[in-house]
Amino acid sequence: MKIPMLDLKSEYLYMKADIDAAIACCLEHQQWILGPEVKEFEDKVAQYLGVRHCIGTSSGTDALILALRALAIKTKGQEYFDRSDLIITTPFTFTATGDAILRAGGTPLFVDIDPTTYNLDPLLIRTCLTSFPHGLSISTIAHSKSRVIGIVPVHLYGQPSHMDEIMSIATEYGLFVAEDCAQAFGAEWQAIDGKRQKVGASGDIGCFSFFPSKNLGGFGDAGMVSTNDDELDDLIRMLLKHGGKDKYNVNHIGYNARLDTLQAAILLAKLPYIDEFNYRRRNIAELYVNGLQGLDGLIFPIAYRPLPTTHCFSHVFHQFTLRASNDSFPIANRPLPLAFMRDALQQHLRASGIDSMVYYPVPLHKMKVFKGMSNIFGQLHEAEQAASEVLSLPVEPLQSNEDTFRVIEAIKKFIE
Ligand SMILES: *Cc1c(COP(=O)(O)O)cnc(C)c1O
Repeated sequence: MKIPMLDLKSEYLYMKADIDAAIACCLEHQQWILGPEVKEFEDKVAQYLGVRHCIGTSSGTDALILALRALAIKTKGQEYFDRSDLIITTPFTFTATGDAILRAGGTPLFVDIDPTTYNLDPLLIRTCLTSFPHGLSISTIAHSKSRVIGIVPVHLYGQPSHMDEIMSIATEYGLFVAEDCAQAFGAEWQAIDGKRQKVGASGDIGCFSFFPSKNLGGFGDAGMVSTNDDELDDLIRMLLKHGGKDKYNVNHIGYNARLDTLQAAILLAKLPYIDEFNYRRRNIAELYVNGLQGLDGLIFPIAYRPLPTTHCFSHVFHQFTLRASNDSFPIANRPLPLAFMRDALQQHLRASGIDSMVYYPVPLHKMKVFKGMSNIFGQLHEAEQAASEVLSLPVEPLQSNEDTFRVIEAIKKFIE
């Protein structure tokens, strides 16, 4: 039997009664556009995240674009950012993160990652800000001169970025923070004062994706924006409906980017399971780490880690991603011509009927779309090395322990 990355059919069967009832209810009321489920889902998620507003959107990508457009309108009084507006983000993410910055008119400024978390390295953000002009207030700097105006941290694989550091940098340098939470629904960050916050609740704005394979996924495209800011809430609600409160008389360059009623209904049915499913993901991660511990050349993610201070985070393992270090494998064992040890491991797993994925093989600064359209700080070596070493293993929440052990045994056989 093959072991897939995910088994969405099993997840559906696990909650079939709830989902079928939710869909049947929509079939009865026929309110497909901004039906009652959209508001109910927005309110429930706002309560879950602990924020004032949640706004459903048509996808995670649209959530990012709407969030950035609303920030441009709010902070600059113009429809789009200028190309001279630099927005710090990670090169080690899904394309949509950087693409949304371009589509909102700004320029991504890629800063390298912390190799132990795969997330933006706050120390490097600080160093970067000493060499770039920065700040949202436009009075002192000529309009055309490049300057940093915001940060888009990504909570990659379900692991929160260091939000205390990022927020204090943002305050100090006068920047906005838009969190890309597409992979981290339900993940938490514990601040130094012991206060726990869900991702999407600490920045100015948070952006979520409910793409079917995300840890909370719909049956098609869907997304959400979270914010405590009333003005941003107002702007996003306008932007997603063609740009105005009245769609026949609009204020802004808008979109048709509403969350679909049917998706909202399905997501409402799935929401009560999210903590259980995130917990199951963490358990699978723990089995992997315990089972593979001590094997040469493998580096694991950490589920819950006290940082050097007393900050902590809880990882929701949207992906369980290990690194197969190229350096630690003896050359003689390398099945050339595969470029990386990771590729050899993936091929070995495939031959054993086990799926695995590389998220992401190409860092954003190496993609054609960002050439000439982005800026980089430093060398981005960590992002490039991660791209050559990472491998994500199956973490289907309903996966049996036997299957998890089968993956572990297959990896052991490859390494030993
Ligand atoms: C999935 C994802 C997105 C985009 O979400 P869609 O719903 O697919 O548009 C953005 N950023 C990251 C990090 C993602 O993983």
